[in-house]
Amino acid sequence: MGKLRILTIPTDEINLRKRSKEVTEITPEAKAVIADLIDTLKSSERPGVGLAAPQIGHNLRIVIIESEGYERDKGEIVDRIPRKILINPKITKFSKEKVVIEEGCLSVPTIMGNVKRPKKVKVEAQDEKGKKICINASGFLARVLQHEIDHLDGILFIDLIEDKKSIREI
Ligand code: ZN
Repeated sequence: MGKLRILTIPTDEINLRKRSKEVTEITPEAKAVIADLIDTLKSSERPGVGLAAPQIGHNLRIVIIESEGYERDKGEIVDRIPRKILINPKITKFSKEKVVIEEGCLSVPTIMGNVKRPKKVKVEAQDEKGKKICINASGFLARVLQHEIDHLDGILFIDLIEDKKSIREI
């Protein structure tokens, strides 16, 4: 337990592309995955704001979101986001309005690029105790939620970049 290796493309593409399984019961295994997600995100060399279980090699529908706040490399400030543990998260509403935001991913270590997604989303999930939670998110949080939930279906942000000219190496 503790810090695990974050799977990256191209090496781990097969595992990152799998659809993750629903969590039917919060077993000791699921709890261990949550603890590992927290430790791995916290000790990541590159700042991250979220991590999904498949990124550490567990194909379970669990994501965590947390940030102490930091400055992105374009001078943009990422606000502090208190820790959220989401089990079986599902987006139940998307706004019609979409926004373009530059995304990166700890599993895609070399590039960033612009992705257009709905500006607001409603997410339903369970917390680590199995309690139902609902989040109405907009702005950066809405973006992070969509990115992380995509990981559970094997979707990476690079699949969604329309403007290939926005891709830049980091
Ligand atoms: Zn990611």
